Amino acid sequence: MTKTLVTVTLWALGGWLLGAWLGAATGWAVFALGLLVMVLVSGVQLSRISRWVLRIDDPPPASIGPWDEVLAPVYRKLKQNRTDLQERSRNFQRALLAAEALPDGALMLAPDKTLLWCNQTAAEHLGLNLQQDRGHSIFNIIRTPEFGAYAGQESWDKPLTLHWGGSRQPRTLMLHLAPYGAGQFLMVTRDITQIERLENTRKDFVANVSHEMRTPLTVLSGFIETLQDLPEEAISAEQRRHYLQLMAQQASNMQALVSDLLTLSSLETKPNQVGEAVDVPALIQAALTQGRALSAGQHHFKTQTCETLQVRGHEAELSSAISNLISNAVRYTPPEGTITVVWQRDDDGRASFQVQDTGIGVEATHIPRLTERFFRVDRGRSRATGGTGLGLAITKHVALRHQATLNIDSTLGKGSVFTIRFPAERVIETGDTPDYRSRSSMDTPASTETL
Ligand code: ADP
Repeated sequence: MTKTLVTVTLWALGGWLLGAWLGAATGWAVFALGLLVMVLVSGVQLSRISRWVLRIDDPPPASIGPWDEVLAPVYRKLKQNRTDLQERSRNFQRALLAAEALPDGALMLAPDKTLLWCNQTAAEHLGLNLQQDRGHSIFNIIRTPEFGAYAGQESWDKPLTLHWGGSRQPRTLMLHLAPYGAGQFLMVTRDITQIERLENTRKDFVANVSHEMRTPLTVLSGFIETLQDLPEEAISAEQRRHYLQLMAQQASNMQALVSDLLTLSSLETKPNQVGEAVDVPALIQAALTQGRALSAGQHHFKTQTCETLQVRGHEAELSSAISNLISNAVRYTPPEGTITVVWQRDDDGRASFQVQDTGIGVEATHIPRLTERFFRVDRGRSRATGGTGLGLAITKHVALRHQATLNIDSTLGKGSVFTIRFPAERVIETGDTPDYRSRSSMDTPASTETL
């Protein structure tokens, strides 16, 4: 404005001086010419400005006289706004990326609870397709009465546990709604399927242990009461001996159960290291001695063990797995049956421990469940022979801790074959040539025959 006033004043002064010298008409003409020049220059500059407005991101045209004062601050403000916008957009992208990286699902809902946005985890949890489901009401997306009642509340102190996905992909989700911003809602989803499964397993386990303990305890307390209540002369020495024998049997069942539970717990808590070289043939011999004692000469035993074959592992764990398989073979094989134990190096470099029996066998449908804790095909038979229902669960656990596999083949009424195969990396040969010992015996380990 000042510049314009100065220019007009200069033209007026010029016109007045010339008017005083050359006459008023000339003075007015010069003044009018000056104004015309000013108007033309302004017109040209206005057209440059209107062209610049179309490309507003470019700097404004240079040297445009009085317009500089107007355009420079406008352009500075524009540049500042552009920088702010870029910074905000970067922050928004960062927030979105962080929300995507969340281990939990996150959904943003509008005040009318329609879906605005969700991260990939939430889309996976609820089977959503953001492109298609955006703008749809959450009540149409999660159509269950529990969710309807939960989301319809005024406030949400506690999360909702929802069974979701039907029979195709059943999941248990934990959903938590929270209001935020201007009447919007944030919903967090967490997949707790695994946690729920573990919790159920834990509950089942506690129920099973209590059940297993209750039976021998009931029998024991029953006998104790009988012996306490009856007068001395009412029971014969023979009867007393019989009762005490039954009580001892129940006490030993409980001892076996506690011992197996401790073994399982230590398998679950101990760190899994590679371990030392273990003399497996010696462990097999010790387990066979126990097996023969259990058999009391009623079974034929055949063995073929490679005396130079060892594995790197945990001696106590391997001993427990080997004894479990051998004692099971004795317990589930009728008298006169044959139990064959093999320890050998396979062609692929692995080492196999195999126990084969000609016993009662297992129906094919039960085989996958044999290694479950407390699973028994015939509870009565297992208990009668001192079984805890944990032997194969322990064996499977031991195999897994040694990166070995436990394979079970069985035919009902014909017999079973249990094989633990150790990976080649764990196998150690202690001699230059493998030394195989074969032995076959009915009741004494001394009588030896070739397999
Ligand atoms: P248990 O103490 O009952 O023997 P295990 O875990 O060792 O528990 O075995 C689970 C079940 O598997 C047994 O109850 C039995 O039904 C079956 N089983 C195990 N070994 C044999 C076998 N050699 N022959 C037939 N059935 C077997």
